[in-house]
Amino acid sequence: MEFSIKSGHPPKASCDCIVVGVFDSRQLSAPAQELDKAAGRRLDGILRRGDMEGKSGSTLLVHGTPGIAAERVLLVGLGKEAEFGEKAYRDALAAAVRALKDTGSKNSIITLSELPVARRNAAWRVRQGALVAHDVLYRSDQLKSKKDNASPSLSAIAFSVAGKDAKSASAALMQGIAIAQGMNLTRELGNLPANICTPTYLAQQAQKLAKAFKLKCEVLDRARMEKLGMGSLLAVGRGSHQPPRFIVLQYQGGKARAKPVVLVGKGITFDTGGISLKPGAEMDEMKYDMSGAASVLGAFHAMATMKLPLNVIGLIPAVENMPGGAATRPGDVVTSLSGQTVEILNTDAEGRLILCDALTYAERFEPDCVVDVATLTGACVIALGAVASGLMANDDSLAAELLEAGQTSGDRAWQLPLWDEYQEMLKSNFADIPNISGSRAAGTITGACFL
Ligand code: MN
Ligand code: ZN
Repeated sequence: MEFSIKSGHPPKASCDCIVVGVFDSRQLSAPAQELDKAAGRRLDGILRRGDMEGKSGSTLLVHGTPGIAAERVLLVGLGKEAEFGEKAYRDALAAAVRALKDTGSKNSIITLSELPVARRNAAWRVRQGALVAHDVLYRSDQLKSKKDNASPSLSAIAFSVAGKDAKSASAALMQGIAIAQGMNLTRELGNLPANICTPTYLAQQAQKLAKAFKLKCEVLDRARMEKLGMGSLLAVGRGSHQPPRFIVLQYQGGKARAKPVVLVGKGITFDTGGISLKPGAEMDEMKYDMSGAASVLGAFHAMATMKLPLNVIGLIPAVENMPGGAATRPGDVVTSLSGQTVEILNTDAEGRLILCDALTYAERFEPDCVVDVATLTGACVIALGAVASGLMANDDSLAAELLEAGQTSGDRAWQLPLWDEYQEMLKSNFADIPNISGSRAAGTITGACFL
C-alpha cells in the first residue's frame, strides 16, 4: 500500500474514492459539506432519504456524484459529534479502510484526517491513520500456501490535511508507517508457532535486523551464559531440547557518550509451565510468551527506520520452558547472575527467572533507564483484560512518560503499586528469595517485586 498526504479542495480531487465523515443524526462533517455543496446537496439528499444515520462504524458507498471529481464517495459514520474523540476517530478510520478494500477503488483519499480530535494535532491524526490502516490490512497468512489478498484493488491511500499542516503531516506519516512496520514484525513473530520460532530463530531474526540496519548484535549461547553465571535463566531452559539464547542488540543513533535506554523483552518461545504444567486448554496460545521479545525487535525496526537520535540496547533472553528429565523441579534453588539464590517454587513463574538475569546484565551498560516488556502473569489479564498493559515502576517520572506514550499511541497501560507490603510477600525458607509468593494475591505485583 502506498500512503501519501494531500491538501486541497475535496470536490476537485480526482481519485477512485473519497472518504468523508458523517456525524450521528445525518450531520455532514466539514469536508463532506464541501463535497455536498459541489454536488448540489446530493449527499444531504441521500441522508434525508434515510440511507444512513451516521452511527459510528457504519458506511455507505455512493457512485457517480455530479460535481465531484472522485468516482465514488464513501460516507463513514462518526457517531455523536459531541462524543467524537480518539477512539471514535480510530473506529471511523478502521471502518473506512475496511470498506475501501472491498471496493474496486485503486487510489483513495481519506478526509477523516481533517476532523478535529481534542488535544491532538494533524500529525497525530495522520500517524494514527497509517497505524489503523496497517492494522486493518494485516493478514496472518505467512504459513498458508494460499495468500489471502487483504485488498485486491486498493493500492494507494492519501490522508488529506489543511495546507498549513502538510509538512508536519508528511513527517508524521513516515513515522506512522515505520511504527506500523515494526508492529507487523512483532505480530509475525508472535503468530509463528514454537516449532518454527525457537530461541535460535529469534536470534537469527535479531541478526537479520542488525544486518539490514547496521546494528550491533551479539548472541550468547549456553556456554557463555554458564560462564557469566546466569543460573536463573539457564534453569528455565533445562527441560527443552532447544538451546537457550541471550540476544544483545545495540542501536547507536545518539551521541557516543549518551547513556542508553535498555529494552528487555521476555522471549519464552513456548511456555508449557514446565514441571508445574499448565492446564491443556488454550495452551497453543503459549507460543505468544515471546511477545515481549518480539516487541523489542519491532521497536528496533521502527526506531532504526526513523533514525531516532537515541542510544538503545535490546536484551532478549530466549528460552523454551518444557517439562523433561532434566527440567527444573519445584523447590530447586539456583543462583542468579546477581549472586542471589532463588527458590523456584513454581516452574511456571519462569518469565521472571530469565528476566532477572537480563536486568542484572543491563547494569553493565549504565543505562539511563530500563523498560522491561513481558507477558509476565495471567493475573494481569484477569485485572485489566486485553484493554491495557499493567505498568509497574520504581521511577515515577519514567512511569508517567510511559503512561502518556500509551495514551498517545492508543496502546494504553495502567499503573499498579509496588509498595513495601507487597515486597514482604516474597519470603523463602531456603533461599534469598522465592520466585512466587505463598498466595495468589497480587500475583502481577509480586512478579514485579521479584524483578
Ligand atoms: Mn509461565
Ligand atoms: Zn511465561
